[in-house]
Amino acid sequence: MTDADAAGDAGEFQDLEDLPDDPTDREYVERTIRLSEEAVEAGNTPFGALLAVDGEVVGEARNETRTEGDVAAHPELTLARWAAREFDADELEACTMYASTEPCPMCATAIHYAGIGRIVFGVDGETLGELSADVVPIPLEEVIRRADGDTTVEGPIAVEAAMAVHDDFFREP
Ligand SMILES: [Zn+2]
Repeated sequence: MTDADAAGDAGEFQDLEDLPDDPTDREYVERTIRLSEEAVEAGNTPFGALLAVDGEVVGEARNETRTEGDVAAHPELTLARWAAREFDADELEACTMYASTEPCPMCATAIHYAGIGRIVFGVDGETLGELSADVVPIPLEEVIRRADGDTTVEGPIAVEAAMAVHDDFFREP
């Protein structure tokens, strides 16, 4: 089911050796926070996400809204679209998406449409909303619930670490 060439569409595999053999949710989220830093280094806003199946990372993505001139180039949407093309329904159900920040309603809807089984995020949108006016204040869990979806939502689990990157980026000097 893993196809490294196809996964390249969703982002590069990079520094994955930093992850232990059997990463915890926290370690996966820390990896997405690293991806959010890499997004900033590339000229974008600080958001990163990855997809894992059976403990293996099958795709990674960084925000590319600025460099692509694409308001929809959120990493969670990139991965949801990629996974829906690559995997069947059972495989999607077995996927966990990790995100540095709670996915926005656009991405939440795509995660639901794709049928991804579980999502875990670092910091909640409400906390980020204290820094950024761009947050649409509809919780991921509410989108999934109102869609009568089956995706399990867990988070926030790494508020301080994820917000440190947002603080550097969004905080007025
Ligand atoms: Zn989004």
